[in-house]
Amino acid sequence: MSVEIRKYDVVVVGAGLAGCAAARECQLAGLKTVVLTKLHPLRSHSGAAQGGINAALNESDTTSHEFDTVKGSDYLGDQDAIELMCKKAPETIRWLERMGAVFSRNADGSIAQRPFGGQSHPRACYAKDRTGLTCLQTIYEQAHREGVEFLDEWYVGDVIYDKRTNKVNGVVALNLRDTQFAIFNAKAVMFATGGYGRTYKINSNAHANTGDGLSIVARHGLPLEDMEFVQFHPSGLAGSGILMSEAARGEGGYLLNSLGERFMAKSAPNKMELASRDVVSRAIEREILEGRGVGPNKDAVYLDVRHLGEAKIMQRLPELRDLAIAFLGQDMVKEPVMIRATAHYSMGGIPVDVNCHVRSSEDELVEGFYAAGECSCVSVHGANRLGANSVLEAALFGRHAGENIVKDIKDLTLKDAKVTDAQRFMDEVKWVVSNNGIQRVSDLREELQATMTENAGVFRDEKRLVKQKEIIKNIREKYKNIRIDDKSSVFNTDMQEAIELGHMIDYAAFIVEGAYARKESRGAHYREDFQQRDDENFLYHTFAVMDKNKNISLSKAPVNIGKFKPEVRAY
Ligand SMILES: Cc1cc2nc3c(=O)[nH]c(=O)nc-3n(C[C@H](O)[C@H](O)[C@H](O)COP(=O)(O)OP(=O)(O)OC[C@H]3O[C@@H](n4cnc5c(N)ncnc54)[C@H](O)[C@@H]3O)c2cc1C
Repeated sequence: MSVEIRKYDVVVVGAGLAGCAAARECQLAGLKTVVLTKLHPLRSHSGAAQGGINAALNESDTTSHEFDTVKGSDYLGDQDAIELMCKKAPETIRWLERMGAVFSRNADGSIAQRPFGGQSHPRACYAKDRTGLTCLQTIYEQAHREGVEFLDEWYVGDVIYDKRTNKVNGVVALNLRDTQFAIFNAKAVMFATGGYGRTYKINSNAHANTGDGLSIVARHGLPLEDMEFVQFHPSGLAGSGILMSEAARGEGGYLLNSLGERFMAKSAPNKMELASRDVVSRAIEREILEGRGVGPNKDAVYLDVRHLGEAKIMQRLPELRDLAIAFLGQDMVKEPVMIRATAHYSMGGIPVDVNCHVRSSEDELVEGFYAAGECSCVSVHGANRLGANSVLEAALFGRHAGENIVKDIKDLTLKDAKVTDAQRFMDEVKWVVSNNGIQRVSDLREELQATMTENAGVFRDEKRLVKQKEIIKNIREKYKNIRIDDKSSVFNTDMQEAIELGHMIDYAAFIVEGAYARKESRGAHYREDFQQRDDENFLYHTFAVMDKNKNISLSKAPVNIGKFKPEVRAY
């Protein structure tokens, strides 16, 4: 196998909101920029975002957005990053709008905003229920127009990292069309590889959300942060987990159990269906566990929007209606639809400072390496993300990463890559294709997903987490014995899925180790054996590193507490 070495100023991995926004800034400043993506850019998961993007447009200042975000994060969010995000949010909306994003409007022509969970004001700007696609199309188009080179259907399998100098100077990728490897040698590398919800059986994520970027980084002994915090969205369609956006509740939808009760009155009497996501998800799962579920298996609850009327549903929630008809045969204009909590969003990720520089430890940064969007942990979401803060984070911090690369570039040098830098990924691919075992990749993936949902899901406890650690060890052993049928070099999706499963196993272990060690309940991480938040012992970020034998060790990093001191979190 030959390896071509291509040289750039900037290589961006991922073409969702974060990657496109960063690449555009770099190209605008005259830097030679390439975006590598395993999917066509518009198939990135950003395009699936339905509900909205937050900004305090009609408030005297951004303090209340900051407070809602800090409270939503269960006080684990870093307040310097949160302040930056909330302050820049209104300008980010105008930036998107000026580039061509068409937001839904009020009758007076101003940008419409709807209420979302955990927010004290209606703050989510939206484009019907296709907000992500509108924003992504706009940024992608504009990045393209500036001359960013997009290479889609290229799979990145490794980052070229020199531990001795703590510097990154490129990535190794293969062209899925013909399995040709290439090195992309650059002064700056940015990861924008998105989330990792696919490690759960019931999830709302695209098939591509296999967390590749995280495991690639972790395999070099670099840390991952706060991996135990996985958000379960209250409303995934029963069975598949496909998302029914929070917009349905934002517009006034009810949640009902089998007795027809609006059961949120018990756990969030003030905010009801619009309490934050972790609170609503637990309430739903509790109704099901206690026998008040609906549907043939009693494993769902109802989302009812009929009282909004057909006109409003068709105007504000047309895609949700289509999805429920297509996947459950239920028309929300005429009947309630069956939903349950679904793995949705990853709060943890590659640790970065507030300017998107990747951290190699709590106080050291990797030279030439940046990350933004869902794969990163800047930590604006802490232990729980508020709805409509993530499209914002991806676009805003993606752009911010680009701006910082532009600022830093004069101090970054291009260290020439060598063909041998590609060896590690080439060996991995060769092994996957030629390994002559008996295990099927799809079986192992299903086992991982089902057990993660069962043992490291909405409710966790010591017994289940210990069990899951063993299960992951066992799956890892079986993975050594896989076999794929397709040995070809043209669009070998068997090979790609096997590599992705390897990534899923690695980061799943981080989730479970972090969840096991965190003996408290905070945000999305809920331990039935430790039901209270414990600030005295656990108000810290988890930094986790993996050694060559895949053992994970954990350390603590301080939370940036600013003007909002930790308080009891009630809705
Ligand atoms: C169904 C759904 C609805 C949502 N709705 C909302 C909402 O209304 N509001 C909100 O704020 N948030 C929402 N979110 C969350 C939000 O959309 C995402 O967190 C955000 O868009 C992520 O953007 P990103 O740029 O980080 O990653 P993504 O858009 O996921 O892009 C990841 C990119 O990385 C590339 N990639 C990954 N691995 C590799 C590899 N190995 N090699 C090459 N390329 C690779 C992919 O090809 C892709 O281009 C929603 C999420 C889901 C799943």
